Amino acid sequence: MAVLDQLTSQDAIHLEDKYGAHNYHPLPVVLSRGEGVHVWDVEGKQYYDFLSAYSAVNQGHCHPKIVGAMVNQAQTLTLTSRAFYNDMLGRFEKFATETFKFDKLLPMNTGAEAVETALKLCRKWAYEVKGIDENEAQLIVCENNFHGRTTTIISFSNDPVARKNFGPYTDGFIKIEYDNLNALEAALKNNANVAGFLVEPIQGEAGVYVPSEGYLKAAKALCEAHNVLFIADEVQTGIARTGRLLATCGNCSCEDKHCSGTPDVKPDILILGKALSGGAYPVSAVLANDNIMNVIKPGNHGSTFGGNPVAAAIGIAALEVIKDEELAKNAEELGKVFRKELSKYIESSTIVNAVRGKGLLNAILINDTEDSDTAWNICLRLRDNGLLAKPTHGNIIRFAPPLVMNKEQLLDCISIIINTLKEFEN
Ligand SMILES: *Cc1c(COP(=O)(O)O)cnc(C)c1O
Repeated sequence: MAVLDQLTSQDAIHLEDKYGAHNYHPLPVVLSRGEGVHVWDVEGKQYYDFLSAYSAVNQGHCHPKIVGAMVNQAQTLTLTSRAFYNDMLGRFEKFATETFKFDKLLPMNTGAEAVETALKLCRKWAYEVKGIDENEAQLIVCENNFHGRTTTIISFSNDPVARKNFGPYTDGFIKIEYDNLNALEAALKNNANVAGFLVEPIQGEAGVYVPSEGYLKAAKALCEAHNVLFIADEVQTGIARTGRLLATCGNCSCEDKHCSGTPDVKPDILILGKALSGGAYPVSAVLANDNIMNVIKPGNHGSTFGGNPVAAAIGIAALEVIKDEELAKNAEELGKVFRKELSKYIESSTIVNAVRGKGLLNAILINDTEDSDTAWNICLRLRDNGLLAKPTHGNIIRFAPPLVMNKEQLLDCISIIINTLKEFEN
């Protein structure tokens, strides 16, 4: 078989199984095309995508404006490295910092790299601005966090599968309960070595865990009182997913017509990835104001691909699509419909316990034990019925369609989901 011959699904699965490392357990479906809210498998069957590549494809699959910017730039100049200036990076930095209202941006590629960058930035600020003694800085993180897969990041994960046998681990992290202000206050109190507090505005991988109303704002106030940087990992929640440009939406440009929520908190350091490219390319970034970002000097940090002209062109287009198509507003409105309809169904359901989420980042809690395969089996049936979703931790199914969905499509999806769940009622 020649490498590029037409494959069946079975062929493709077999190839990945045999020649690829087994670091994922994919749902058995082999996709070969995508457009907007839909994807198609190699046999031509159409599905609604309810994962959106973990919220990277907020702007929909193969958005023509983003693909256009990518192709155009790819034919012009792809990579210079940061050894030289290029004519796209500054434009992206200006556009993104104006969009999110920060002084400066540091471009990287993946979410994990951006988290690493934020941790390094925070530590350096702690030594050079806050005045913590060398090697004494600590960062507060939350239990059940997900921030990526590097050695340092898994050092402060409490997922045994992500951690075991990858030690020795990086020091300097204090873990507290998520959504617990007393725990945060206790960790900050009488500890002058705390440099930062790293938090997801909604814990996505943990199962779309939405913190109590006011938690983020109060946490930010506590950090301010202790001269500790509030670091928001919005890799999954950012870029309109939760019904605002950012889940922490503070002083940003969505205040006007793109924002339907009240301003909440403005992070000291903002981490973005995933939908910053609309899923076209790995683009991530760390944003901060000058008093923090200026501790980074030439040679302190870098990336060969970070800030490349293709990434910059895509980043601009991806953010323009969010604004032009008012996707935050759409996510807010459709999210309400989704939770309302699912809640109605759950009232009389024995298989689903709850629905929760914000905007179009939602999850249902399946009524079964953590280690049962009910959620997996439901996802297999959803696939058969034309909708792709995947279980996240335990018996939780996350539902995160592209934000370019319209109401008619959403209602169609809700009926697929409910009809599938009905097959599992007893
Ligand atoms: C996906 C994710 C990351 C890691 O991003 P990668 O691009 O996979 O490295 C970090 N933080 C959060 C909250 C995420 O959802």
